[in-house]
Amino acid sequence: MALTGKHFIAGKRSGVENSADSFSATNPSNGETLEGEFLEAGQSDIDAAVAAADEAFDELQTASSDRIGDFLEAIAEGIDAAGDSLLDRAHAETGLPMGRLQGERGRTTNQIRIFANMTRNDDWRQPRIDAGDPERKPPKPDVRTMLFGVGPVVVFGASNFPLAISVAGTDTVSAFAARCPVIVKAHPAHPGTCEILAEVISAAVEKIGLPAGTFSLLQGKSNEFGKSLVQHPDVAAVAFTGSLGGGRAMFDAVNAREIPIPFYAEMGSSNPVFLLPGALKQRAQEIAQGYVQSVNLGVGQFCTNPGIVLGVESDSLEQFLSAVKSSVSGVPPATMLHPGIHKSFQDAQGNLESINGVERIARSDQPPVDGAHQAACNIYEADISVLQSSSEVHEEVFGPSSVVLRCQSTEQMLAYAASLDGHLTATIHGTEEDLNSNLKLVRLLQRKVGRIVFNGFPTGIEVCNAMHHGGPYPATTHSFYTSIGHQSIYRFTKPVCFQGFPEKCLPPQLRSEA
Ligand code: NAP
Repeated sequence: MALTGKHFIAGKRSGVENSADSFSATNPSNGETLEGEFLEAGQSDIDAAVAAADEAFDELQTASSDRIGDFLEAIAEGIDAAGDSLLDRAHAETGLPMGRLQGERGRTTNQIRIFANMTRNDDWRQPRIDAGDPERKPPKPDVRTMLFGVGPVVVFGASNFPLAISVAGTDTVSAFAARCPVIVKAHPAHPGTCEILAEVISAAVEKIGLPAGTFSLLQGKSNEFGKSLVQHPDVAAVAFTGSLGGGRAMFDAVNAREIPIPFYAEMGSSNPVFLLPGALKQRAQEIAQGYVQSVNLGVGQFCTNPGIVLGVESDSLEQFLSAVKSSVSGVPPATMLHPGIHKSFQDAQGNLESINGVERIARSDQPPVDGAHQAACNIYEADISVLQSSSEVHEEVFGPSSVVLRCQSTEQMLAYAASLDGHLTATIHGTEEDLNSNLKLVRLLQRKVGRIVFNGFPTGIEVCNAMHHGGPYPATTHSFYTSIGHQSIYRFTKPVCFQGFPEKCLPPQLRSEA
C-alpha cells in the first residue's frame, strides 16, 4: 500500500499535501529517512474527527452485538491480510526484529478476537435488576442498571508496541467493544504503520456498514495538537500509553478542561525485584539468567522492565552478581525504537554513572554499531543508602539497564517497599519459607503496585481476564483500571440506572423477559 501521509477522518483520507508542517519517520537502524510525508493535524481536523465521532455514537449504541463482533473480527482479518507489508513498515520504523513483530501481530489479533467474543454477549454490561414492589410500604421502585459506552474516546499509543498498543491495540478495540467511536493520535515514531492500520480499520467500518465517524486517525507530532485533542469538549475519555512526562502533561490538560473527563494513562515504572535470602541461596545462577533476559527483552523497552533489584549482602548475592556479569557480557547491543529514545537512554546512563556510589558492574562485550542507535546492556550496583542523596537511581530508565541495590537486612528491603511510589509491578523471588516469613513485604507491595510476580519476571504480560496491568500513580493515573486484558473495556463505560421505566421502553438487556 502506498502511504499518503494523510489523516483518516471518518473513512476519508484528509489533509493538504506538502503542508509546511509535514514530517517523516526515521529508520533507527541506519538513520535514514523513510518514505512518506506525514501531515500535522490542525484544529479543523480535530473538529471534523470529533464531530463525526459524536454523530456516530448513537448508532453504535444501538448496533446489534453481532455487528460489533463482526466489525472487530473484520479488523483482525484485515491485519492478517495486510501481511508482510505491515510488518516490513513497522520493522523499518521501529528497528524491532521481524520475529518480535510477528509475535506482536499474533497478540494484537488475539486481543481483538477476545473483545469480539466479549461484545457478542452482553455480560460486560453487567445488567442488575431490582424489581419494584408497589405493595411494600413505602413502595419499592423498580431499579435497573447496566453499562453503556461513554462517548468518543481519544487514544495515544506508545512507541514500543507499534501493533499491540497502537492504532488497533487494546485501547482502541476495547473502546469499540464498548461501542465508543475512537480517534487515534498516530505515534510520530511509526506514522506509516499507523496509516496501514488505519486503512484496515476504515475498511472494516465500511464492510460492516457502521457510521463513518466510528474511527479517525490524526497524524502529527506537536504537543499542542495532542493537548487540543484531549481538550475538545465532545471527547468523553482518553487512553494514553507512554512516558510519565507525556502522561502527566496530558493529565493536566484534561483536568484544565471546563468539564474534566476520565483520563487513563499507563506510564513508566521501574518494577522492583526483591531477592529473598532462601531463593538466592538455592537459585542465584538461575535467577541471574532470568533477570538478564528480562532486562534485555525488547532491548529493555518495556514498561515492565525490572529496573531495580534488591538483595541482602551475602555470598549468595555475590554469586548472583557474578552470574549477572557473565550473562550480560554476551548480550549484543541492539537498535532502539527511535533516535530520541536512544538519546534519552544514553543520557540516563551518563547520569547514573556520574552518581557517587553507583558502579557499573556489567556491560555487553560487543560495542554498539555507530549510527544504528544501538543500546548495550548495562547493570549497575549501589548500596541502598545511595537513595538518600540520589533518589533518581531508582527512576525508570527506558532501555536495557538496571540497578542492583545492596541491603544489609530484609528489614531494609521492607523499608524500601514502604517508601515506594506506585509501580506497575513488583517481583519477589523466594522459597515458600521466605514468603511466609516476609508476608509483610507482600502486604506493603499490595498498596504500591498493580501486579506482584512470584518467582518469575514482570516482562511478558498475559492477555487474559484476570490480568491487571495498572498501579497507583505515577504508574497510572487511575489505579482501579487495567490497560491490558478483558477488564480494560471498563475504562470506556459508564453505568446508567433506569428507575420506574415501562418494560418495553427498557434496553432489551434490562427487560425481565429478555
Ligand atoms: P511518549 O514519548 O510519552 O509518547 C507517547 C505519545 O504521547 C506520543 O504520541 C507522544 O507524541 C505523546 N506525547 C508525549 N509527550 C507529550 C506532551 N508533553 N504533550 C503532548 N503529547 C505528548 O512515550 P513513548 O516513547 O512512546 O513510550 C515509552 C514510554 O511508555 C516508557 O516510559 C514506557 O515505560 C511507557 N510505556 C508504558 C506502558 C504501560 O502499559 N504502562 C506500555 C508501553 C510503554 P510526541 O512524540 O509527538 O510528543
